[in-house]
Amino acid sequence: MFILLKENTNHSQIAELQSFFRTLGLETYVLQNPLAILAPNNHLLPDRDRFTFIDDIKPILTPFKLSSKIVKNTTEFDVNGIRIGSNHANIIAGPCSIESEEQIYSIAKFLNSKEIKFIRGGAYKPRTSPYSFRGLGNTGLKLIREAADKFDLSVVTELMDLSLLDEALEYSDIIQIGSRNMANFYMLAELGKINKPIMLKRGMQANVTEWLLAADYILSGGNEKVILCERGIRSFDNLSRNVMDIGVIPLIQSLSHLPIFADPSHGTGNSNFVNQMALAAMVAGANGLLVEIHPNPSKALSDGDQALNFRQFEALMNGINNLKTTIQKPIDANYSLAIQ
Ligand code: PEP
Ligand code: MN
Repeated sequence: MFILLKENTNHSQIAELQSFFRTLGLETYVLQNPLAILAPNNHLLPDRDRFTFIDDIKPILTPFKLSSKIVKNTTEFDVNGIRIGSNHANIIAGPCSIESEEQIYSIAKFLNSKEIKFIRGGAYKPRTSPYSFRGLGNTGLKLIREAADKFDLSVVTELMDLSLLDEALEYSDIIQIGSRNMANFYMLAELGKINKPIMLKRGMQANVTEWLLAADYILSGGNEKVILCERGIRSFDNLSRNVMDIGVIPLIQSLSHLPIFADPSHGTGNSNFVNQMALAAMVAGANGLLVEIHPNPSKALSDGDQALNFRQFEALMNGINNLKTTIQKPIDANYSLAIQ
């Protein structure tokens, strides 16, 4: 159950309530924002006359708790002065992999010219085949950081393994946890202890409960800056890379307070379909997009089939501007100004 506490509740009152639950054999979890206690659902409720500092008690009937909408209505936070979540929508764009200084600088320059504020790019790539290009590693991280700093962008990059956490903390502004690591629970718990936003992609086999429980792993460590990202799920179909689940956007928004982004690049695997699905996701109410772009997709070292070239990306920005009145979220300056 979720027990909302009055704002001026002090430490000893919280301890008193926790010890009430402990005598019932129940462990509790203290939440700071909003100030609350999370306890297992129980038929014995704390006495409101004794614990006068309790504001409200609500059961949480879902397996996921901290990511639940019962805890709060919405989550919003700041990344280098840009708001993410709630009524904000942001675009994150960049290559699948950082390939060279020339490539990442040309992309960063282009994004800056379109008033985009976030660049993505992988330095350690989770490739199906060990013989494929697996990223530039630390060199790549340095390149994307330098390019981002030069062009006033924040960096989103994937953390593949906890042994690389220090690098990710140094070079990125948002840490992406990829589909393959969504269920790496020890990793998620460690990410709960850091003060950096985490973009948690949906596992390719994960249902919504599993995904939100994965978010709870991060939240329960105290890191409240979690962004969900739908990137398509596996199905029996062999003609599409993934099934892009647009319906999950309003579903997540009905269940959780966390921001939800959409990645139509991995969601479709085909640059010809990315823009339609990107617009569909925005109309469905997504808090933003993660889109792969490349100056020359046919030469990309990974995921070239799904990368938009600059012209296609401009078309996407135009499409978003045309849909301004339909899109559920107010459009932030950081991309509404992008294309006339
Ligand atoms: C990526 O964003 O490049 C990536 C590997 O994504 P996913 O984890 O969704 O496959
Ligand atoms: Mn990719």
